This record gives sequence, structure tokens and C-alpha cells, in this order.
Amino acid sequence: MGGHHPVVVQSMTNTETADAASTAAQIALLAAAGSELVRITVNTREAAAAVPEIKQRLDDMGVRAPIVGDFHYNGHLLLTEYPACAAALDKYRINPGNVGAGAQHDDNFRKMIEVAVAHAKPVRIGVNWGSLDRALLTAMMDENAKRERPLPDREVVLEALRESAMRSAALAESFGQPHDRIVLSAKVSDVRDLVQVYRALGACSDYPLHLGLTEAGLGTKGIVATTAALSVLLFEGIGDTIRTSLTPAPGGDRAEEVRVCQQVLQSLGLRAFTPQVTSCPGCGRTTSTFFQELATQVTGHIQERMIVWREKHPGVEELKVAVMGCVVNGPGESKHADIGISLPGTGEDPRAPVYVDGKLVVTLKGEHIAADFGRMLDEYVEKRWGNPA
Ligand code: SF4
Repeated sequence: MGGHHPVVVQSMTNTETADAASTAAQIALLAAAGSELVRITVNTREAAAAVPEIKQRLDDMGVRAPIVGDFHYNGHLLLTEYPACAAALDKYRINPGNVGAGAQHDDNFRKMIEVAVAHAKPVRIGVNWGSLDRALLTAMMDENAKRERPLPDREVVLEALRESAMRSAALAESFGQPHDRIVLSAKVSDVRDLVQVYRALGACSDYPLHLGLTEAGLGTKGIVATTAALSVLLFEGIGDTIRTSLTPAPGGDRAEEVRVCQQVLQSLGLRAFTPQVTSCPGCGRTTSTFFQELATQVTGHIQERMIVWREKHPGVEELKVAVMGCVVNGPGESKHADIGISLPGTGEDPRAPVYVDGKLVVTLKGEHIAADFGRMLDEYVEKRWGNPA
């Protein structure tokens, strides 16, 4: 992680960690969706005691995603009282804003770092504006008030976030944690604030940075706000791991946050995870639902096939497919895809030209256009990415 390594997708469970079976099952689900790091809260003695069993269950299932323990308030107790938990976790997240106050702060922080050093584990120093070190913020606010032209409070808070992360990293190194086993994060819930604080962090250090818009929210709002913030930073080369902190809908799929991260990285051209289907939004030229149905069927066909394709045809995640609604942009977009179909719009001939590698190869007609196009997709993947086994 970090440097020129690809940006890593991270997620977090929302099961009770003390329930080892449920937590292991959710980690497996997130890992299967593509999460390359999974964080679990370790908030109680029962949770800490359950961590070795969670790891064992994951080993038994063949799940290899590294597990990060998220510690707040009592991490110094849990990590020292439960050495098997400390050994089983792959990384510790420490929030310097809630490890204690005054001399206790440094002492508790030191205890956690000493455990990390003893077990050769990396740590993420994760500052969050909702739990920012009060003593540090108060001192910086007081200092600011004495200035001839005080800065707005927002600027001081953002500077305090950066300062808290940097001071804690220096403290961790002074307690023996190697420089290259420290990751930093400074999460806020406002897009502009997030961009500002990470630009400042990126400019003053070479620690790998974990990005995420904290408390991003529900559904479309959460996805769009996270994408907006992360895109700016990732395009500037800032960020080494990312997470989408979506509020799940009741009964919703926790793995959605993984897919959003993957889609952000793939849309930015930074990584490829799954074939991309370009489909037009449709308009008055596509008055039947056939076009929407075909776009859905093609996407479903790819998702279903990917379970096998991923193993059998490495590189298939680069596949680009176009499903277009009519002749206006259909042929043009189809020619730019690896394989594309342009459907008949209202009043057009009931024919669907298919382009492969930019060339018109066949015009599909009749009742079975979707099935025929699916077969062509399978053949294209087989031919282009073959079977390395
Ligand atoms: S390609 Fe055709 S159907 Fe699709 S949005 Fe453009 S004009 Fe409308």
C-alpha cells in the first residue's frame, strides 16, 4: 500500500464483533465483493476475545483479506489484555482524539503503539472531526484568537485535524513504530473540507493516506458526495486506500460500499474491476421498454458470467460494452466499445447492428436479440482473453 501501489478498497463491518460467526460471514461477503481490507470495531472485551475466532473462521473459508481493528477509548486496555486479538489483527486503527486526556493521552497512545511494535503491525492514525483532540483544538483556537487577524474557525479546525494526525504520527515514531508502518486519515463530512485537509496532509508528509468522507449519508447523496470528494483528491495523486461510509438502507447490502469504491476507481481510470457497460439514458426515440430491458439483461449477464470469467479469463475486467437506444449515437458509441449494440428507436427498422472492435459484424433481428447478443459477448471474451489454464 502507498507509493506507486494501486489504491486499495476498504470497507467496514456493521455486525457485533463479539458475534464471531456473523462478523466472519460479513467479512467474507465484503471480501467476495472485492474489499481488499476489512475493518471491524473492537470496542469491548467480548469483541477483543472474539477476534481470534473470527480470523480462524476466515482462514477456514479461505478468506485472506487483512483485518483492521478499530479502537476508541479503551484500545490500550484491549490490545494489552488480549494479546491473541493483537496478534490476529493485521492493522490497528487508533483515533488520537479519544485515547485519553493530558498525560493519560500519551501513556495510552504509547501502550497501543508498543503493542503494534511488538507484533510488527501497521497502524492507521485516524483523526475524525467529530472526535478531534479537544485539548489541541482549544489550544489552537486560543492561539488563533490572539492573532491580529484571526482565521475563521473552520480553518482552525481543519488545521487542527492535520496537526493532530502529524503530531500523533511523530509520537508513534518516537515510541518505536517504523515510519513505513503508519497510515494517516483525517475524515470530515463536508466535501470541500475533506479536499482541503487532505491536500494539506499530502503536502506535508509521505505517509500513505486513507481517504473517506465520514458519515457520507444514505443512497444517492452518500455516493455522489463521496465520489465528488474522492475524485478530486485521487486525480491529484492523493490517497492510497479508500472507503465509502454509506448509511445502509434497512436490510440493504453492505457490499454496496465496496462496489461504489470500485466504480470510483474504475471511472477515474485508476483500476479495473469489472466490465463496463455504456448505455444511453434513452429519450423520446426509445418509447418501448425493450432498450431498458436489454441494458439490464446485458449488465446482469456480465455480472453472472464474471464469477467464472474472473478466474478463467484474467484481464476481462477491461471489457467495454455499449448498449445504445437508437441510430443517433448508437453506432458511434458502439464503435468505441469492444462490443456494442445499437437498438432500433421508435419508427426505425427493427434491426440491431452489432459492432465488434469498431467494425459492423452482424445485424440482429427478431425475438432473440438479447440472447444472441449475450452469446456474442461470451464468444468475444473467450476469443480475446482465452483460457490461460
Ligand atoms: S442514443 Fe438515441 S435513444 Fe439514446 S439518448 Fe441518444 S438519441 Fe436518445
